[in-house]
Amino acid sequence: TNLARNVLMWFRRDLRLHDNPALLSALGQPDRIPAAQHLYPVYCLEIPTKKKCGHRRWIFLLECLHDLDANLRKLGSRLFVVRGLAPDVLPLLVQHWNVSELAVGECHEPFAVARDNDVAQQIAPHGCDFKSFPGRTLFRPQDVLARTGNGKAPLTMAAFSKIAERLPVPTPVDAPASLPSLGDDAITALRNALDPATFDALAGPQGDFSVPTIEPDGTVPELHLTTPIPAHEQSPHRGGETEALRRLDAYLSDHARVTQFEKPKTSPAAFYPNADTTILSPYTTYGALSVRTFRAGIDRVYRAAKGKHSKPPVSLLAQLYWREFFMTAGATTLNFEQMRRNPICLQTEWKCIPGETTRESHPDDYAMLDAWAEGQTGYPWIDAIMVQLRREGWVHHLARHSVACFLTRGDLYISWERGAEVFEDLLLDHEWALNRGNWMWLSASAFFHQYFRVYSPVKWGQSWDSEGVFIRKYLPVLRKMPKQYIYEPWKAPIAVQRAAGCVVGVDYPKRIVDHDVVVKVNMTKMKTSHAAQREQAAMENGDSNGGRN
Ligand code: FAD
Repeated sequence: TNLARNVLMWFRRDLRLHDNPALLSALGQPDRIPAAQHLYPVYCLEIPTKKKCGHRRWIFLLECLHDLDANLRKLGSRLFVVRGLAPDVLPLLVQHWNVSELAVGECHEPFAVARDNDVAQQIAPHGCDFKSFPGRTLFRPQDVLARTGNGKAPLTMAAFSKIAERLPVPTPVDAPASLPSLGDDAITALRNALDPATFDALAGPQGDFSVPTIEPDGTVPELHLTTPIPAHEQSPHRGGETEALRRLDAYLSDHARVTQFEKPKTSPAAFYPNADTTILSPYTTYGALSVRTFRAGIDRVYRAAKGKHSKPPVSLLAQLYWREFFMTAGATTLNFEQMRRNPICLQTEWKCIPGETTRESHPDDYAMLDAWAEGQTGYPWIDAIMVQLRREGWVHHLARHSVACFLTRGDLYISWERGAEVFEDLLLDHEWALNRGNWMWLSASAFFHQYFRVYSPVKWGQSWDSEGVFIRKYLPVLRKMPKQYIYEPWKAPIAVQRAAGCVVGVDYPKRIVDHDVVVKVNMTKMKTSHAAQREQAAMENGDSNGGRN
């Protein structure tokens, strides 16, 4: 019933103008239909805040929104940040702005798909179509699944790559040079149509749908994030498409680094601005950087090198494939985020399984979990990584390996779901499928089964950084500890501890476990659980073969 073609662009995990097919659809591309008369760029901000998103990730997200707004304004448009849940607020906007199409970048997580279906149903009675476009991933999970032959996601990179190599390489699209105008007075239209309380709740404290303000001390009053973050504890990673494209160009300009990239050879002890990997993950997570643009950039460097470059699974391009791998598994596996009723996940008796034990029933187990989360395990390598994570919101992949192995099969035998929750809070780059999938990997619950290959919380860090530069940076209390004790301060004679100004048990915690002891106990548990899993699988295969014969 709408005569005008008015488009509402609902931004989610595609906070950018470049390579944004949903946004371009408002211009009538690629369908060669007339451009929309009006375009309303919208972001739905859940208030009060989602509990699982930590303070620094909020700041990163808001910075992405500020940058998106600024870039839209350069084209004569702007971003409307609407306070509320999408299924509640979008039908109101669609109705009062007379919107005929709601355009989105496709999301694949089961919970996001359910939400999108809900929104599509709610707007349909207002004569508005829900249209989704690719761009969040290189390949659509459904397209990968269609080629596995058994309806299940590939569980190895080799199997995934075989399929991926036969799928077309997506071509990124250009950023728009101009955009359709906003309605004459989009805000007045809403103010006139809604009751004042509803309008105020949607429009935010300035009454103008602007992005919440981040104060210089890092507080965000509107989101009740009121604890100041001292300058030296603010994350060095600034959000936004502009910063994302700057960092991508900077990284790709060093051709040798791109062509010789081998993930296992990059150091977990190197930190910003001299990290060994790209630190583009926070940008790909929020879509401030398109993975398709990222890929096209890598391909250009590879072509310039005439095909001489590192290869999967360790190359830079392969890192993007790992993202696709987990996105596909997450989109298509039942109960992917938990151990129970998850068909690909090892079942074992972890401590602190959500829904099965509580802080009250098992206080000692949760005290261990807290010590890990707060960087108080007494193992400097582990604690320094957790401090970096807490402060900067990003740590290197192999650092994630170290702390994830420590929490689960290596040392504490605590449920990987608890580790994933802590990461969800602290990581700027938190991505549901990647986080849950990698936690299953590190705990040898799925994808990876060599549970006996445990990272030593001492020797492994030492092999990268024998001087302990990384530890000294993030744990200043150990700054003066001689290098032979920096990874094992409890071994330092008390006189050495005193001279270093760091007495173990007073200035820095005692070890919460003895790695050499607990790892043996844990390996026995792992062995039993893996054997049970194999037995179960054999039984199921046997049964299904029996059925066919
Ligand atoms: P680079 O090495 O420069 O790689 C380039 C891009 O490839 C990354 O930006 C990322 O998009 C992708 N990528 C690289 N490694 C992986 C991987 N193993 N799996 C999936 N994608 C990958 N990554 C997230 O983006 N979000 C998460 O929530 C997340 N949780 C993790 C949890 C655990 C326990 C572990 C072990 C890893 C997790 N990772 C996660 C994967 C990986 O550690 C990060 O993507 C990577 O360290 C980001 O740094 P980078 O951008 O410098 O990576």
